[in-house]
Amino acid sequence: MSDVVLNDVLFAKLAGWEAVKRARGLLAGARVLESDWQAPLLKGLVQEGSATYRAGLNIKSASDADNLCTCRDSRQRGMICAHSVAVGLHWVAAKATAALPPQKPTAKMEPAKPTPKAAGKVLRRAREGETGEPLELFLILPPNLVEALAKSRVMLYWEGKWPGGRAPLNSLPRDTPFQVSAQDAALLEALEILNEGDTPAMLMLNAQQFTELLSKLVGYPNVTLGKTQAVDITGEAWQPGIRATLETSGEITVRLAGGAPTGVIGGTSPWIFRERTLQPLGLPGGLAELLTGPLQIKRGRVPQFLNVDWPKLAASTNVQANFTLDDFAMDSAEPRFKLHLAGGLAMLQAKLECLYGEKRVAPGVTAPDEALWLPDPDSPTRYRTRDFAAEQAALGRLMRHGFTGPDAHGLYHLKNQNQVLNFFAREYPRLEKEWDVTLEERLDRSTKQNLERIEPRFQVIPSGEQWFDLNVAYDTRDGERFAAADIQRLLLSGQSHTRLRNGKFALLDTGAVEELQEVLLDCAPQQNPNGFRLKNTQAGFLDATLRKQTGWKVQAPTAWTQRAGQQRGDVELETPSLGELEAVLRPYQKKGVAWLNFLRVNGFGGILADEMGLGKSLRC
Ligand SMILES: [Zn+2]
Repeated sequence: MSDVVLNDVLFAKLAGWEAVKRARGLLAGARVLESDWQAPLLKGLVQEGSATYRAGLNIKSASDADNLCTCRDSRQRGMICAHSVAVGLHWVAAKATAALPPQKPTAKMEPAKPTPKAAGKVLRRAREGETGEPLELFLILPPNLVEALAKSRVMLYWEGKWPGGRAPLNSLPRDTPFQVSAQDAALLEALEILNEGDTPAMLMLNAQQFTELLSKLVGYPNVTLGKTQAVDITGEAWQPGIRATLETSGEITVRLAGGAPTGVIGGTSPWIFRERTLQPLGLPGGLAELLTGPLQIKRGRVPQFLNVDWPKLAASTNVQANFTLDDFAMDSAEPRFKLHLAGGLAMLQAKLECLYGEKRVAPGVTAPDEALWLPDPDSPTRYRTRDFAAEQAALGRLMRHGFTGPDAHGLYHLKNQNQVLNFFAREYPRLEKEWDVTLEERLDRSTKQNLERIEPRFQVIPSGEQWFDLNVAYDTRDGERFAAADIQRLLLSGQSHTRLRNGKFALLDTGAVEELQEVLLDCAPQQNPNGFRLKNTQAGFLDATLRKQTGWKVQAPTAWTQRAGQQRGDVELETPSLGELEAVLRPYQKKGVAWLNFLRVNGFGGILADEMGLGKSLRC
């Protein structure tokens, strides 16, 4: 794109005005040491702080350019940086002041003050079409490499071999264009970045820098330890032997079989130097710590280790262990819930705890230090998981009744009297049955003084062969009675409480009563003044509904209760006399016959479903 004209507008378009502004600052501070524009390449040297950057742009069009700068912004964020823009501005300014003919390749401005890094410390590469002297790079590692690696600092020596001989890289002639292989070109680039712009002869690197460079040197032929011993750089990982021991305490110790190896080059992906070879260290992620010593895996972390790290470890390295995954038992534990309520009828605070054995956790919450797994103290290989679904469900029961939270102290709050009364009417009796529920003393007193539960009482009176009557009465423990119409009004109001004449609140589990009414509706009863008349075939269904509720009292003759029990399936069905089939039928087939008989006696319908092809093949 030789028609691209370098100017402020172009740079603003490529890099933004902010970069142009910063670039002007660099230019004004005489930070640009050198600039050169030969389309499409803009090149130069810029100094900022203690660093000198080889900056520049490969300008493809007025809106598209690659940044060549060696600074962090450019390399890591791919941005067109102020350095490269400054080089461009420098070129434009130099051209303007000198009014030079356009073919002059290089424009120079004298720096305002002397700088420690003068221009011209970079090896000149032959441009495209230009002939250059062939040059080959050589890397010389220090003979004491292992000791150097132990200190995490290593000095690399770089030499270049060209028709003029072999010499330290920075002593090669500066004005000679050199022709290098693609690999050497990339390598030179990398070295100059590490050396803040200059072509180095010696380079002191830390472990991280060294491993990054090594990954670019895989298969590189010209590497020696000292002047003569050849060194291989391979990308193939070395896998150390690993020993994993399950201790009697249940903890697992992982260590390198041969102890800590020497020649390790640390960093995010460690390498190792052994047997004249530099190669990556094949340790799965997270186990790099092994290089500094054994790894102790505490019991709370063992299941996670076995699930996540162990399979990788076992697959990628040669591992010896005194256990296998099959030795471990992991099953889910059954939580118990403990609810403590405090406050009053206008406002309630709840503390809900979940207990697994002796361990208490806040339901639905895992603190960072709180293990998901619960080690069995009696067995080093046994673990149980928390049942998060059950924990969530427990919390859900509070939330559904209007509790909010948890607050900073882990407490849940119910903030108005209406909700508190509804909670005590509907959910509290069930929670009391299923959980360990305690009330703070003041709240306990207050509920005893102010709350009265309306508990339905049911009376079953058989009425002939086919029918029975169900009478329902609603009254409080103190004997205050509610008419069916009162109850209906309460249901319609959506509330579960009402004021009594004595000033107390009467609580009714309206949810349960609604459920009962639906069940009755399904039974299609006849209505009578005290209740309902139902078919005997409905006894089991109804009985099950009534028994489910806390505190509901059912008065019924024994025969009715027994029949209901049979219908529910709690009571063993009677097998009819089978005659000669008695010896032929298998137990499960007899059970089937008993069931069919039961359906017939009760006038029910039944569906025989296909299951494994057993039993149906008997035809009576
Ligand atoms: Zn830059």
